Amino acid sequence: MNLPAQKKILLAGLFHETHTFLSQKTGMDQFRETGINIGQDIISRNQGNGSPMDGFLSYAEENDWQIIPTIQMAASPSGTVTDEVYNYFTNHFFKILERECHSIDGVYLVLHGAMVCESYDDVEGTLLREIRKRLTAKGIDIPVVAVIDLHANVSYDMVEFSTCMYSYRKNPHSDAREAAVEAAKRLDVSMAQRVCISQHHLPTQYVVPPTGLSTAADPMKSVLKHARMLETKDPDLLCINVMGGYAYADITDCGFSLNCCTRGDEAVAKGYLDELLEVFEQHLADVYPIESSLDEALEHIDREKRPNGPVLLIEPADNIGGGTPGDGTGILGPLLIMRRKNIIAVINDPESAMRCNKAGVGSKIELMVGAKTDLHHGQPVPIKAEILHLSDGKFELENKQSHLASMMGSHIEMGPCAVIVNEQATILLTSLKIPPMDLGQLHSQGIYPKNGDLVIVKAAVSHKDAYDPIAAASYYVDSAGLCTSNLLSLPYKKLKGKQISAR
Ligand SMILES: [Zn+2]
Repeated sequence: MNLPAQKKILLAGLFHETHTFLSQKTGMDQFRETGINIGQDIISRNQGNGSPMDGFLSYAEENDWQIIPTIQMAASPSGTVTDEVYNYFTNHFFKILERECHSIDGVYLVLHGAMVCESYDDVEGTLLREIRKRLTAKGIDIPVVAVIDLHANVSYDMVEFSTCMYSYRKNPHSDAREAAVEAAKRLDVSMAQRVCISQHHLPTQYVVPPTGLSTAADPMKSVLKHARMLETKDPDLLCINVMGGYAYADITDCGFSLNCCTRGDEAVAKGYLDELLEVFEQHLADVYPIESSLDEALEHIDREKRPNGPVLLIEPADNIGGGTPGDGTGILGPLLIMRRKNIIAVINDPESAMRCNKAGVGSKIELMVGAKTDLHHGQPVPIKAEILHLSDGKFELENKQSHLASMMGSHIEMGPCAVIVNEQATILLTSLKIPPMDLGQLHSQGIYPKNGDLVIVKAAVSHKDAYDPIAAASYYVDSAGLCTSNLLSLPYKKLKGKQISAR
């Protein structure tokens, strides 16, 4: 009896959510912070870390696939990526693709889907087009499958030049690893049934702020529910992807979109996408979550009789997971002036963290904290405090299904850190910005947010799995910052025909 031949898969990862309104570019140094993995390092550094790459590797192992690992590059959400980064990736990747293309059965990519570099507004579409071009030039027709983030700004090129894309279904992205496994299953199917698979894309005019894209709330909740119903009903469907999009990219493909992959009839598939858009439009009013001014939120907090537990002051305008610097003082500054007490905050401020590390634990120090990256995130705040704790900023995720695992795996590095404390606040100063998606970030530094009164959280939705369970209440506070939910305040130039959502 002949055993089926072992499948050979070319593997790569390119992951960045690009905020094009930030003035600072994202270069090789930022990608090196998260780690650039080449060849076998992709396997050894991802196995068991809860990331999408880990999901693919486990599926490949179970199915005895031979993997040709090429290159994996990722960086925290931030400004436009330099061409040097894209060229570094493609130089490695295409060298190996050219070498291996005659012997591989498929290509698997871990992508974000909202990456912009200096020369290309649609990095993923450009990459997929180039892969297909090179394969076709050699007469090779193999599937190219990608797992993508729910916040991807999907383009026609991404859909046309990939065989199947499979996106996360949850926000916070607790299912990123699982989605990668599902994408690998679609690769398996595609390798067997390549000829009859087609993808369809429905871009829309809607650009939605991240705060409106929680999958526990409408419109995403209802649209995803309907999509799952269609997937269950129609066995021809390989998947339907509901793409929230990423609003802070001034590119023509920005915004909410729908796509699907099917073995069945094209017209039927397109009909599904139209149906889903109708569901989205029925819930359009819900894409504007309520945000208060800080004064309104505090007035409400002071009036309410709450059970024990901290109140979260969510600061979406400095949403680290959305790309902003994480050094905004739009909430911390006024709270300190108002003489509020028992505040807990994290501010990314390498300069202050360094000064604390030089001064030593137990020293008293005077700092100007935060707002050093640009002029959009408040003013530096004067703070006199005692240095309570110093560390190298390394921690392991407490929840391996944390949104953070989708971006960085389970081992996280914040760079040299300091915890400073005074009669008003406990503040963690970091050297690398890390979004507040896992309580291990604070617990590892001896900070217990459940004991605070006012906890500032620089996020939109991705904090919810970690922070909502410890919170007595939660308020979205409108402050200054480039991840503002007020999209109308941003200087878009390329959103022709798009409708920017604003309350
Ligand atoms: Zn995302």
